[in-house]
Amino acid sequence: MELEDGNELHSKEDYQTQMKMYAGLYAENFGEWPASLELVSLTGGKQGVPFAKNDCSNLLDEAKATLEWINETVENHPCSSLPSILASPSSEACVFCQFRPGCEPYLLKVEKQGEDRWPIDVIGTVQSVKRLGNSKVMLSLDTGTDSVHIPRLSSGDRHPALMALQPGDMAGVFNLRRSRPTAPYSESRLTTVHNLRQTADSGQRSPPDSVRSN
Ligand code: SF4
Repeated sequence: MELEDGNELHSKEDYQTQMKMYAGLYAENFGEWPASLELVSLTGGKQGVPFAKNDCSNLLDEAKATLEWINETVENHPCSSLPSILASPSSEACVFCQFRPGCEPYLLKVEKQGEDRWPIDVIGTVQSVKRLGNSKVMLSLDTGTDSVHIPRLSSGDRHPALMALQPGDMAGVFNLRRSRPTAPYSESRLTTVHNLRQTADSGQRSPPDSVRSN
């Protein structure tokens, strides 16, 4: 198996699990086990992956059981309830996920913003939207525990939802930047602003109680 990102091999426990599952699939399909497993990085580094046949078979059984459970869940539950049943937010899984604004289980965890590699997102009730002298906008949100000010957001077409926000709306700003935990938030190229109440009204999600205004 060739790694796509050339990262250090020793940090790739997930890849090793994946390799063991491939070994189990190979044995299941061809009736014999691979002689060895090896991870190869794009820079040419190689690392053998020791494996026990039982472990590989167990991993494969677990994966099949999980797939079966997911399929049954999708068949037997309404779409609107699926995220809360199936989603399992974690910093690693959510950091690159673009569904965060619509994912209720993620929003329930958003108080972890910026901690331990969680994405830097701010969710809260709009207190004010102020146009600044430099054509930038400052959005102030009540997160339930803090009053958070997000300065220098771009105005105009960059954030279509921003200028339409009204005090009392539930809003989220996703993919912010911060140079250190106490530094002001700043906009990144990936920052997006969402009116979460509108999203809820359109049937995509209901804002969780924990992120509603007091
Ligand atoms: S935000 Fe994305 S990765 Fe995280 S739990 Fe929701 S759907 Fe899964």
